[in-house]
Amino acid sequence: MLNSRDINLLRSDVGKNCRIFLDNCQKVGLPVLITQTVRDNEYQAYLYAQGRTRPGKIVTNQKTPTFHSNKAGLAFDFCKNVKGHEYDDPAFFKKCADIAKRLGFSWGGDWKTFKDNPHIQWDDNGKYTSSMILQGKYPRSMPTRGQVTQKMTKDTAKSILKKEAKLSDATITYLDSYRYGDDLIVKLANAIASKS
Ligand SMILES: [Zn+2]
Repeated sequence: MLNSRDINLLRSDVGKNCRIFLDNCQKVGLPVLITQTVRDNEYQAYLYAQGRTRPGKIVTNQKTPTFHSNKAGLAFDFCKNVKGHEYDDPAFFKKCADIAKRLGFSWGGDWKTFKDNPHIQWDDNGKYTSSMILQGKYPRSMPTRGQVTQKMTKDTAKSILKKEAKLSDATITYLDSYRYGDDLIVKLANAIASKS
């Protein structure tokens, strides 16, 4: 049974934003604790049983993990890191959620049918639903706030890689055809340009 709170198990772009979320909360004095990142089918079945075949209050309507699944890694849960008062302060959740939403996350507390205050997910502004995630349709990489928003052209990227990184035309062509992400050379050039 997998039930983890490890940020490293989130998809890397989501994990990066989760860390920014934590930093931003800490900066304004909100004591956030991540309680859950990913889980497997077995743990979701265990949660589903709560309030149904096991005592307790119903915490989920999903039999199979979606955004939290170890395959997706698109969601995390949090609470207030104050012993005995982890979940009794709605204003705390609202303030943290505002910070998360500014980064681009969606908040479970905004859901109409099943409010989930401790839940944060990346669904590309509501474009992705649980059933899409179950079908293996995942949202694009989550942007990081403060990243270069104006998109660099490939030609500019190539000339930066040539001049600044001293890469050969053949290497640049190879990188450009590399399957891992369409914008690899633009990303590399952005990284180089931001350092120089
Ligand atoms: Zn959750």
